[in-house]
Amino acid sequence: MNLEGLKSLVRAEPQKGGDTTTVVAVSTGDDVDRVAHTLGRFFADNDTYSAVLLEIDGEAVGYLDRQDFYSEKYDRSRLGEAQSAQLPGFPEYAFLELACPVESCNTQVFRIRYDEHNPDRCPIHPGQMLQVVK
Ligand SMILES: [Zn+2]
Repeated sequence: MNLEGLKSLVRAEPQKGGDTTTVVAVSTGDDVDRVAHTLGRFFADNDTYSAVLLEIDGEAVGYLDRQDFYSEKYDRSRLGEAQSAQLPGFPEYAFLELACPVESCNTQVFRIRYDEHNPDRCPIHPGQMLQVVK
């Protein structure tokens, strides 16, 4: 899987009205295999998310649907590995969760790493810097 492979899975609109406030943000410098593994775990651990908005280098490229993600043969063969990532020694296979400090705002951004010198801003509240939840 490379970034282009991940991009080829996205849709302009989420299938069956998926969540549009959940963003998975990827940078070209990220390890894409790790992103794919983490996405696999994310979808496995969070049944409520049917789709996420994929952002690459700060630009929204489209919606990554859970079904599309799992339909990708390559990913399915890697899911076993993603599960083994839960074993000791691989504690890092989880996204950092960022949220908007505005209380009523549902914006959620997930990313592999967080650059405190270049923090994300809420797409709904551009004046607000997203903060790490966990
Ligand atoms: Zn917000």
